[in-house]
Amino acid sequence: MSQDTLISTLFRQEILAMSSYHVADATGLIKLDAMENPYSWPEDLKQQWLETLRNCALNRYPDPEAKQLKHTIRSTNAIADEWEIMLGNGSDEIIQLLLMALPAGSSVLSPAPGFVMYKQLSDCLGLNYIGVPLQADNFDLDLSAMLAAIKQYQPSVIFIAYPNNPTGNLFSETAIKDIINTAKGLVIIDEAYAPFADASFIHQLGQYANVMVMRTVSKLGLAGLRLGYLVGSPAFIEQLNKIRLPYNINILTQVSAEFALSNSAVFEQQTQAICADRAIMLTQLNALEGIIAYPSNANFILFRAPKDRANDIFASIKQQGVLIKNMNPQGGLLVDCLRVTVGKPEENERFLTALKNSLVVVG
Ligand code: PMP
Repeated sequence: MSQDTLISTLFRQEILAMSSYHVADATGLIKLDAMENPYSWPEDLKQQWLETLRNCALNRYPDPEAKQLKHTIRSTNAIADEWEIMLGNGSDEIIQLLLMALPAGSSVLSPAPGFVMYKQLSDCLGLNYIGVPLQADNFDLDLSAMLAAIKQYQPSVIFIAYPNNPTGNLFSETAIKDIINTAKGLVIIDEAYAPFADASFIHQLGQYANVMVMRTVSKLGLAGLRLGYLVGSPAFIEQLNKIRLPYNINILTQVSAEFALSNSAVFEQQTQAICADRAIMLTQLNALEGIIAYPSNANFILFRAPKDRANDIFASIKQQGVLIKNMNPQGGLLVDCLRVTVGKPEENERFLTALKNSLVVVG
């Protein structure tokens, strides 16, 4: 039997039909494509962190419950004792765990455009993913379309990113509440961008029996650690813990995240700077002829290029040394759209200059 035949008989059809999640190579480029925090830590803090690593027992398995880290997450986010916390190797892993627990053929729903992993992971697990288009003018939820889709498909899980990626906006809170009240399944409020938004459902968990809140430390400034967390009813988490790999959070992540979250003042300064620079960047983008930049509550800005120019502009900006994200290939409401992460002021300047040049050159 040839290897091709073996592959096509061995793997599930939905996996054969998929393409893997592509991460662009950013070598030598200013990296404004992945919503990372551009800042590092002051030297004294780095030294203190290295000290904490000195005593890590690399020869031992890590604490499977990561008790100390969960305790710190609970206290830094003022999470009430009645809620349980489950940690994931990035919130990506939490999405995967949630979906792995569903019966085959279940429906999973989210507004579209939304975070691509909801669909990617649903597809690979043989689930029925439904993306409900947002309103075209302001990217808010189309409430009647959402409620109609919920009634039609009865999704087991609904993901709502709050703020949303890639549009950057916070959906209307009342619309989300209507969705929660209509849904018969679980509603996951994905608060990956919470550090840049003055809004959260984390303190409203008690009002609903079917809501959980998911967060990550990635956007805060710890993307390299791969740590996400899910907060909600202990009864749900008890089930999910059955399929979580016992040592999914390695010791270096446990110790480093514990240290970082206990020294969160540095992140507060950095996220404030990012929010201030986001406002400057939005004004500068909207001042450019032919560019429409959308308001953002996250650490990135989605903007629309002149018609049919997004691919060229993306390539030209890259040629000038800056990597952003081209959303145009995703189609739908994202046609002509590009997404830029807010970086350091000098990086943002480099990006704006490159964008201005590309508008002249391509035009
Ligand atoms: N949710 C949203 C809305 C995101 O944009 C991202 C990352 N881009 C994630 C979850 C995953 O984050 P991580 O796996 O780094 O925790």
